[in-house]
Amino acid sequence: MPTDVPASAALFERAQAVTPGGVNSPVRAFNAVGGTPRFITSARGAWLTDADGRDYVDLIGSWGPMLLGHAHPEVQEAVQAAVARGTSYGTPTVPEVELAEEIVARTSVERVRFVSSGTEATMSAIRLARGFTGRDVVVKFAGCYHGHVDALLASAGSGLMTFALPGTPGVPASSTELTLVLPYNDRAAVEQVFAEHGERIACLVTEASPGNMGVVPPEPGFNAFLSEICRRHGALFVSDEVMTGFRVTRQGQWGLDGAVEGWAPDLVTFGKVMGGGFPAAAFGGRAEVMHHLAPEGPVYQAGTLSGNPIATTAGLTTLRLATDDVYAHLDRVATTIREAACAALTGAGVAHVAQSTGTMFSVFLTEGPVRDFDDASRTDTAAYAAFFHSMLDQGVYLPPSAYEAWFVSAAHDERAVQAVLDALPDAARAAAAA
Ligand code: PMP
Repeated sequence: MPTDVPASAALFERAQAVTPGGVNSPVRAFNAVGGTPRFITSARGAWLTDADGRDYVDLIGSWGPMLLGHAHPEVQEAVQAAVARGTSYGTPTVPEVELAEEIVARTSVERVRFVSSGTEATMSAIRLARGFTGRDVVVKFAGCYHGHVDALLASAGSGLMTFALPGTPGVPASSTELTLVLPYNDRAAVEQVFAEHGERIACLVTEASPGNMGVVPPEPGFNAFLSEICRRHGALFVSDEVMTGFRVTRQGQWGLDGAVEGWAPDLVTFGKVMGGGFPAAAFGGRAEVMHHLAPEGPVYQAGTLSGNPIATTAGLTTLRLATDDVYAHLDRVATTIREAACAALTGAGVAHVAQSTGTMFSVFLTEGPVRDFDDASRTDTAAYAAFFHSMLDQGVYLPPSAYEAWFVSAAHDERAVQAVLDALPDAARAAAAA
């Protein structure tokens, strides 16, 4: 295979011989954009370095977690000190209490339980909602991704959208039959489903602001409406903040709507930023609901490495360093890159729309606005592939999918941002020519 990244190409050959598709999470593959995935060997600040020694400005941030940038010295120091004290005890520990306190202080939740991935968080939240309500039906939105939970893979975003998979084999019909899928931002569809099935609905789960079909923010008042209709029908409102939590504001998406409007979800899931780059996630909510979890209540949920001391130390240190100044910086960087991308695409005559929620944004190569999955699906994936590869060749690592958010970090300084700005005009011309 002719390639300008021989080391990554050789590693990819070896990887494919031992791992399906050569990757341990489908979104890392380049199947949707073509070419060789880069094997990253180190990262620092806003930069990734691959096995061929090439540097890239990172606009993925490990798909969300790296809010402070890579190898942040204080996070590294805290993690190294924690490792020196042993890596896992299977007992309660100090950092997990402190991280829980930090999460409770920042968000609407009163109690929080740690798990090891966002998938586990949403899976457990749904079980708890079903156990609490004694009902089985779950309502979700097309284009929202909540991890690879059986009941939530129907019409999901993220890799399923990138690879055009409506669902997946291996999920029993009995599981998806209990999942009702609605178009996002569609109040009439929500009202109708509650009118028809209200008494059977355990919960409605939604991304607090969807980022897995590209960024498709809730229309004003939409989350408040969902919270209210759930309350009226005795169902729980589950807000998935795995991506948005501690990212879009210090309080997550709830800081932009619920905290301002005076409502709170019944359950919230978290992940990514709160693990500081380690496998840590959580679900939490009202004490009355969380009280149903074992050992206080009958709904069982557990994990050998849940609340792992290294992961919770990394998350705690990250959140403590994620000050208002950090969020203000992320806002400025996100706005600069978003506006420059739009200017470059406009200059090259490429139809596009940029959408954002707090500090998280994405650029769709289609006319806007994008309100739901169908709108997002109109994005020009061939043009995006050309745009992506031009950026990559110029040293900027975007998500290898037209349907993902772009993530910036506190470490995106002037040099990193300038490198992105310099690359955009050529990439826009490549998109126009695709
Ligand atoms: N929920 C949302 C909103 C997500 O973005 C993701 C991951 N992208 C998940 C859940 C699943 O998290 P994990 O990959 O850690 O299982």
